Amino acid sequence: MTSVYSTTKIDPPWRNEGLLRRLYIDEQLSTKEISNRLDCGVSTVSKWLKRHGIPTRGPGGTDAVCDTLKDGEKLREEYLTKEKSTHELADELDVCAWTVHQYLIKHDIPRRGFGNVGEDNGNYKGGHTDDYGPSYQRQRKKALERDDYECQVCGMTQTQHKQERGEQLHIHHIRPFRKYGVENHEEANRLGNLISLCQQCHSRWEGVPVVPRRD
Ligand SMILES: [Zn+2]
Ligand SMILES: [Zn+2]
Repeated sequence: MTSVYSTTKIDPPWRNEGLLRRLYIDEQLSTKEISNRLDCGVSTVSKWLKRHGIPTRGPGGTDAVCDTLKDGEKLREEYLTKEKSTHELADELDVCAWTVHQYLIKHDIPRRGFGNVGEDNGNYKGGHTDDYGPSYQRQRKKALERDDYECQVCGMTQTQHKQERGEQLHIHHIRPFRKYGVENHEEANRLGNLISLCQQCHSRWEGVPVVPRRD
């Protein structure tokens, strides 16, 4: 028994100095982009950057990465006109293929290739079930066991997720799989790089290095 309130399982992410450093310095995200990812105000991000003693660099940053995703027209052009795959776009934009997929849905862009049903189930190519090398399925199971079959952000259980979303919990690579490449799948799929997330938290925490909760 650690807490009465399931919502207090984690501290607000902006209190985590390492996380802010990584987002702001390593990933060169703007305060605005960080605030979007952490679902808080820009002023909160600025305040905590200061509090953590992280030198700020003024407005700007690399919002361009996500502009393509946020802008429905742009994404439509890349996906439909230029016929880039979800996977290719994910590589170019440096996000998870799953995220690209979410934005396609959001902008109501018809998905092609594996059929809408398959894609909506998350079983599309380039998603979280394929292409992660021979060690993935085994490691995926281990990660779920370690995480007690619960989303490590909100605590939703595998059973609830199956009922509400019709699929298993997602296993997210904290450092994106493509940064390792399939030849280094053992390293990419090591337990320390995997985390169980529900669909909703996955989209929200995409690109954010959340770590497994340890009681
Ligand atoms: Zn992911
Ligand atoms: Zn969740």
